[in-house]
Amino acid sequence: MAKVLCVLYDDPVDGYPPAYARDEIPRIERYYDGQTTPTPERIDFTPGELLGSVSGELGLRSFLEQRGHTLVVTSDKDGANSVFERELPDAEVVISQPFWPAYLTAERIAKAPELRLALTAGIGSDHVDLQAAMEHGLTVAEVTYCNSISVAEHVVMMILALVRNYLPSHQWVLDGGWNIADCASRSYDVEGMQVGTVAAGRIGSAVLRRLKPFEVGLHYTDRHRLPAAVERDLGVTFHETPESLVEVCDVVTINAPLHPETEHMFDERLIGMMKWGAYLVNTARGKICDRDAVARACESGRLAGYAGDVWFPQPAPKDHPWRSMPHHGMTPHTSGTSLSAQARYAAGVREILECWFDQRPIREEYLIVDGGKLAGAGAHSYSPGDATGGSEEAARFAAG
Ligand code: NDP
Repeated sequence: MAKVLCVLYDDPVDGYPPAYARDEIPRIERYYDGQTTPTPERIDFTPGELLGSVSGELGLRSFLEQRGHTLVVTSDKDGANSVFERELPDAEVVISQPFWPAYLTAERIAKAPELRLALTAGIGSDHVDLQAAMEHGLTVAEVTYCNSISVAEHVVMMILALVRNYLPSHQWVLDGGWNIADCASRSYDVEGMQVGTVAAGRIGSAVLRRLKPFEVGLHYTDRHRLPAAVERDLGVTFHETPESLVEVCDVVTINAPLHPETEHMFDERLIGMMKWGAYLVNTARGKICDRDAVARACESGRLAGYAGDVWFPQPAPKDHPWRSMPHHGMTPHTSGTSLSAQARYAAGVREILECWFDQRPIREEYLIVDGGKLAGAGAHSYSPGDATGGSEEAARFAAG
């Protein structure tokens, strides 16, 4: 029987379960490209519940315990004395989320001789040292597409929030003011702007589709080009390089996975090539941007605004410069963990575990690493190597 070690974010400060705003969520059976949403044999939760925090347990406990497995759920993930490190040595399966990542570094993998499956409850498995996972014969899987549209909606929201100066204007209301000139003096229309995405995968192309009706110029760069008919339909211009894209765009959104090719792609040099007063929205991974270069660009005015929900490491230390730099619209890592998304990623985790324990193949599109190499979605979107370096700094958050 297997031990499943599951790392989830903390419950709400006001207690669990929360008071829900709505009774139900829409039922979605297929994504835009026809892929079906997760198809587990059954689920033991009500879609719309908070499943991603510790007490939600991704709705897995009765399923695993009825089959005789052990489930350990914790949010204590960083540092040598964490529950995660203590429970890791005899775990066969580790489940983690990008929002509150249990970094599976090479050192940690070496301490886990029983480990066979690293499962991401969401999308983006860069918190796992994929090189070490390949070398140790682990399977790494994630729930491809489960929250891609959740993020695309968030990207559109953040572009509008930055360009229209929404957050500072809202703050004037909270402060009891009516300061129209203060609100308007940094507020523009998105209409007519040039908007580009770095990567046009599931999220990037969903952002392009959503922005088309805004009557903007659309641009993208990617390792593989979209079909000509899709480019025509969207009216989107392809750029061979990120450099060529950022030079012409007023707004840039990053939608690529984090892997050695994209780590620190937005450094001083690339940000320095952006138009003066451009906006940068990054909901992909914090480490795709150089932390200090972004903060300096917000201070100098090179960037008129920066927004996103991804940081490195996570949770971000309290003195992380993105918490205090000017003109930012940062949130904690939330875009892919709406209650709607949680229902899909919890069902996807259940589907993958059913396959794993019944020795049935996991869907190809869910695989990142398998059989000692990049596989499935991972073979398409990632490159070999490791992007977890520096993750030990996450322990500073708990230390205060
Ligand atoms: P996809 O795999 O559908 O898309 C990723 C795209 O990135 C692919 O088109 C891939 O290209 C492209 N890409 C990879 N490397 C490069 C590169 N060096 N330069 C340009 N493009 C590149 O994934 P999703 O769109 O669903 O998700 C993308 C990322 O967004 C995830 O990996 C994750 O990091 C992040 N994410 C964040 C969430 C959040 O809550 N904030 C939630 C979900 C995802 P190709 O395949 O053509 O090689």
